[in-house]
This record gives sequence, C-alpha cells and structure tokens, in this order.
Amino acid sequence: MSRRPPAIDRTLLVALALLLPPLSWEAIGDARHPDAPSSAPRLNLVWVDVLGTASFALPFAASEAAAVLGQAGIATASAVGTPSTEVAADEIRIVILDEFPGGSPLSKRVMGCTRRGGHTRTTWVYLSSVLWALGLPDRGGRGLLAREREEVGRALGRVAAHEIVHVLAPDLPHGRDGLMAGRLSRALLGCNRVTLGAREASAARAGFAALAASASSSPRAVEVAAEAVEPRHPRR
Ligand SMILES: [Zn+2]
Repeated sequence: MSRRPPAIDRTLLVALALLLPPLSWEAIGDARHPDAPSSAPRLNLVWVDVLGTASFALPFAASEAAAVLGQAGIATASAVGTPSTEVAADEIRIVILDEFPGGSPLSKRVMGCTRRGGHTRTTWVYLSSVLWALGLPDRGGRGLLAREREEVGRALGRVAAHEIVHVLAPDLPHGRDGLMAGRLSRALLGCNRVTLGAREASAARAGFAALAASASSSPRAVEVAAEAVEPRHPRR
C-alpha cells in the first residue's frame, strides 16, 4: 500500500480512471442544487465536442458540472465551442474526445485528464470511456434510451467537474474517496448526487478567485489554495 508509483509520478497528466471492480449503481435522480448568488462572478465553461458525438449528453453534462460547482459556491455559465475557439482568461475549455490516446486496453479506463503545471485552462474528458464505465454500448450515444443519455451526461459532467477542479486547484491532491478521488466508481458516476468535500470546494473557490482576478484588470490581491501539498497520482 505504501509502494510509491514509479515513473508515472513524473507525468504531467492527472488522469482520472474508473475504479475497478465496478460497483453496481442505482437510482437516477435529478441533481438539484442551490444556485450561487446571481451577483457572483461566473466561471465560463466552453464545451468542445471534437467528434460531434457527445451533443446528446452536453446539456446534462453542463447541468451536472454546474450543480457540483454551484454547491461549492462557484457559479458557472456553459457554452459550446469548437476546437478553434480561443479560451479567454476567465474561461475553462472542456474538450470531449472519444478515448484517452495510447491505444492500450487501459486507455478505456481513463475518463478525464488535465495537464499539470503551468496555468492550463483546458481539460479533456473521454466519452467512450464514460460509456464503458457505465456499462453502456459504445456507439457514440446512438441507440441509447433517453434515460441513458441523461445518465451519460451526468457522468460526463461529474468527470468534467473533477477535471475543472484540477484546473482551478492544481495543487490539490486526489481525495481518498468522493468525486476528487483518483478513481471513480460506477456507483459514484451514477448516484443521485455528488458534492465536493469542504477542503476541495475551498481550494476550487480560491482557484476560481485567482482566475477571475487574473482575468480582470484589477490589481486586487488573490487568495491561493492552502492545500499546496504534493499531488498524488492515480494508479490502476
Ligand atoms: Zn484527478
């Protein structure tokens, strides 16, 4: 258990994989959330469906990401962009691809990825892997029931929310469990409601405050996430 991960420690990517063995998941519900104050600054999310296969899931994904981040006190506004859409300083781009590149069987387990270091505002989520994680056929969403489309969208939104927190709080380590764990169970992807832990929400808010401040011309001082500890990387 104390074995240190080998070379992956040096990777620049923080990959989010499915926790195996998969757990059964149940009840699907509506993810309601209290809206953040309308006067609060909004985090702009730009969703880029590169292959055009995720449009069925985007509204649900955006809604779920808004729910998770909204409960952490971060109001969001979502828009659909293209791969050539430039990302403004106060925006985060969520690029939806089919599968984590690499072609190995393990690629299927990687549902999201964020480059570490620097000040990235782009993150990736993988539709095919999310479908696989939910045990649904991978036909780009074709043939899914309306209920299943919503399930996929919700799961995609949760993966995106996880990755957005990485963007906002790059020094925040993975949690032992919950949405910010390095591996997510099928149960977590499908359950009625997920929230960030208090420390995770605090770090995300601080990161958002820094992002918003850097995007404005105001020289106002910004808070920095206190959780500046060595990030841990997910292991298979
Ligand atoms: Zn992660």
